[in-house]
This record gives sequence, structure tokens and C-alpha cells, in this order.
Amino acid sequence: MKIAFIGLGNMGGGMAANLAKAGHDVRAFDLSADALAAAEAKGCTVFHDAQEACEGVDAVVSMLPNGAIVRSVYTDSVIGHAPKGAVLLDCSTIDVATAREVGQAAAKAGYLMVDAPVSGGIAAAEGGTLTFMVGGTEEGFKRAEPILNDMGKAVIHAGDAGNGQAAKICNNMLLAVQMIGTAEAFAMAQKLGLDPQTFYDISSVSSGQCWSMTSYCPVPGVGPKSPADNDYQGGFATGLMLKDLRLAMEAAETAGVAPRIGGMAKELYEAFDAAGNGARDFSAIITEYD
Ligand code: NAD
Repeated sequence: MKIAFIGLGNMGGGMAANLAKAGHDVRAFDLSADALAAAEAKGCTVFHDAQEACEGVDAVVSMLPNGAIVRSVYTDSVIGHAPKGAVLLDCSTIDVATAREVGQAAAKAGYLMVDAPVSGGIAAAEGGTLTFMVGGTEEGFKRAEPILNDMGKAVIHAGDAGNGQAAKICNNMLLAVQMIGTAEAFAMAQKLGLDPQTFYDISSVSSGQCWSMTSYCPVPGVGPKSPADNDYQGGFATGLMLKDLRLAMEAAETAGVAPRIGGMAKELYEAFDAAGNGARDFSAIITEYD
């Protein structure tokens, strides 16, 4: 397929490379010359204009920083420039309202569009093992699914436009709460005289077991290898977790709900980020309990 790929940063770079590896003709566009050069080295064709990249394509995939940028890219360069039969896939993490608004604008102009945010970080983007949660019509999902399969290990239809983003922020709110809970449990166990490895051996096979413990343990040297073993470098940055928690709280307000523990998690990550930890992996929040 001929696919335009817009936004070739930490995540998009690896995703576009996997589409090229799968045999697609990938037409890459980014504002950064470095990102374009890296995409070219991985088999993509470089364009210096987004509208031009969208000419004659079967699909457009985007992986951009936020909702305002997604709206402007789709309004200025995709809608009306990609052929009408093209399917549009926005994989960025953005607010539910903007995802629905852009999805509706695309549908009105005659396109099939899905919001397809991901679970998984840079390593999963490079390894083609992302999980995609997809919002859009059944027809849009069917068209998007094979493309997403070339970049991920799981592709799940979450319902109508915006539901992919809703699933993503609810999942990440749960992840933040789980990580803070795991950090608090390890810190408290240690204060009570338990060795962290012993607590892990017990809790990882007991009812406190969760992903933050057994796949991404925040204690260095305990559990499988994780960013904690690399001084909390790499992985999922605190700043990005905070972005998702802010989107979650924004969506909660719109929906008329007030998640109390989710709100507390946002406050804790806000303080951790403000203290200069934005670039550290989000599991580094355990160091607040040292
Ligand atoms: P990034 O900042 O590394 O990449 C974004 C890219 O978009 C950059 O290369 C930038 O130059 C480009 N860009 C910005 N404005 C543009 C425009 N108008 N036209 C074309 N290109 C433009 O960010 P990232 O880490 O790749 O994240 C991308 C998205 O994925 C975000 O929405 C983020 O929340 C989400 N996400 C990130 C991770 C992660 O671990 N990094 C995990 C899951 C989801």
C-alpha cells in the first residue's frame, strides 16, 4: 500500500520503519530534518510537504504530540488532499473531544477515519509489538486493522470515534495508580523490615500482583529487567504519563465523573514532574519514598 506517515519522532520513527519493512511504500513527513533522515535510512521516502506526502495514498498514519497539532495537520494537509478512498489513522494520544471532532470532519469530507492510540513505548514501536485501541466505524476498523497489524501485536476495536482515546486514558490512569501503589507497598514493606526481593517473591504470586510489579518493577534488581535497572532512563517518561493523566482528568470532567484516586495520581505525578523528573521513567516515582 501507499501510506503517508506524519510524525516520525520517538514512536512514529519505529512505526513507519515497520510499515516499510512490511513492504509498504511509506511517504514520510515531519518538521524535523533529523527525523526525516532517520526515516529515509529505514526505507521510507521523504517529503518536505505534508500535502504532497498525502497525494495518491491508500492510507495516512499520524503519530503527533497533541490534539491541537493533530487538528491542524488533518485540517490543513490531509482532509481534501488525500484521495477520498484513503483510510486515515491517528495513532497519537490526544483528548477525546478533539479525536471525535477531527473524526467527524473527516467523515463529513467522505473519509474513513479511526483514532488508534497505542499502549507500549519506544521499544514496542521499534519491535512492532504495540497494542492499538481503535475508535471508529466497523468499516473504518476493517480497513485500518491490517495496517495496524504491521506495527503491533494486538488491535482491538473499542467502538465509535474517540473510544480508542477513551480506552487509552482510562488504561493509563489505572497504570499510574498501580505504579504508585506498587511503589508505596515496596517502600512500606522495606520500612517494616522486609527485603524487597522477598516481598516481590510473595506479592508477585499473591493477590497484590500487577503489571507494575511483575513486568515493570520500580525497584532496581528485582523482577525482570526494567527502567529501574537503568537508573530510570528510557521507558515511559514521567512527562508523558502526566500528559495522559491530565487528558484523563479533562475527559472525566466532560463525562461528569470525578475519579478520586486517579486525581491523586495526577497530583503526585504533577509534583514529581515539577521537581525536575519529567524525563525520567514514570516508575522513578518510587524514589519519592526513599
Ligand atoms: P516525539 O516528540 O518524539 O515525536 C513527535 C514528532 O512529531 C516529532 O518528530 C515532531 O517533529 C513531529 N511533529 C510535530 N508537529 C508536527 C507537524 N505539524 N507536522 C509534522 N510533524 C510534526 O513524540 P513521541 O514520543 O513519538 O510521541 C508521539 C505520540 O505518541 C504522542 O501523542 C505521545 O503521547 C504518544 N505516545 C508516546 C509514547 C512514548 O513512550 N514515547 C508511548 C505511547 C504513546
